Amino acid sequence: MAAPGKKDYYDILGVSREATSEEIKKAYRKLARKYHPDANPNDKDAEAKFKEINEAYEVLSDPAKRAQYDQFGYVGDVPPGGNPFEGFGGFGGDPFGDLFGDLFENFFGGVGGRPGRGPSGPRRGADVETVLQVTLEEAFRGSSKELTIPRWETCMRCGGSGAEPGTKPETCPSCGGRGQVEQSMRTPFGQFVQVNTCPRCSGKGRVINSPCKECKGQGRVRVPHRVEIKIPKGVETGTRLRIPGEGEAGINGGPPGDLFLIVEVMPHKVFERHGADLRVKVDVAFPQAALGSEISLETFDGVERIEIPPGTQPGSVLKIRGKGMPRMGGGRGDLLVQVRVVVPKNLTERQRALLQALAQEMNVKVRQEEGILDKLKGFFGG
Ligand SMILES: [Zn+2]
Ligand SMILES: [Zn+2]
Repeated sequence: MAAPGKKDYYDILGVSREATSEEIKKAYRKLARKYHPDANPNDKDAEAKFKEINEAYEVLSDPAKRAQYDQFGYVGDVPPGGNPFEGFGGFGGDPFGDLFGDLFENFFGGVGGRPGRGPSGPRRGADVETVLQVTLEEAFRGSSKELTIPRWETCMRCGGSGAEPGTKPETCPSCGGRGQVEQSMRTPFGQFVQVNTCPRCSGKGRVINSPCKECKGQGRVRVPHRVEIKIPKGVETGTRLRIPGEGEAGINGGPPGDLFLIVEVMPHKVFERHGADLRVKVDVAFPQAALGSEISLETFDGVERIEIPPGTQPGSVLKIRGKGMPRMGGGRGDLLVQVRVVVPKNLTERQRALLQALAQEMNVKVRQEEGILDKLKGFFGG
């Protein structure tokens, strides 16, 4: 019984009202995978759907909230500081990463236990996502790189407790360590008890009275971290590389998250990439195009000899098979050489005279110059 204008959480997860917690969890996992932002980059609809699924699961997975929802049709449970799913979207932000850490640790990682944010259970570290710029040549050859990426690590001073050495975090006096507080609420439906995240300890169940001076009570510090990575041949802009275990450190002994690198291949000043093909423009002189020639082209493979057939027209494209970019799945694209025929400028007198002669021979009209015939006679011994 959803309140008017409110979405029905059971409908959202596609389960019946009698669904067991196991069925709810199963439905949630299936939908969360389908609408996960990783699987739907830049898809606002999927993102909205993902939020909705999480909101529904947040309520239906918690017996107290579910009971409240069943009875009143809504749950007034937005923890202090707003819905944790708010501001979700885009890459890189820590809240995003932390959220993921939570989600996957609790529901996908198989750490076990009741889903939710236990005060001190092991938690998987957040995934880290960053853009990796590579040159076209690196994408061609593949390469290894050492990156320095800042990430959270357990604070050495306090050993991760967040409490100044010699002191200990204490049980939160407001919630008695449960991380949640109950509050009586009067609503149009009557009075009921609302369960809120404890505002004093933010749900951790413990408070730190003397915060560690190094980490200011966070228990972790931001440290530059070196990662050796391999860039496979053929990567493209948008290729996503996963480096397992190189994300944020886990919390309370949980496993680390993963590092995701989103490749951006920088433009090259000579070669232009089109999928697996490489395009390049070469200049040839008019006689080379007319009579045929062979030119040398510096490529990533070394010097390539390129045959210009007689009568090559300006703009024609010569295809050299298998000399393009490697494909990640194997094989290579083609090298496409576009021929530009250069019209000579700043001619010498002799060149001018020869062209005049050619024009005459081809019976085409050209701009005549004073005394050109005399010069021609001179050149051809007339
Ligand atoms: Zn510390
Ligand atoms: Zn508390």
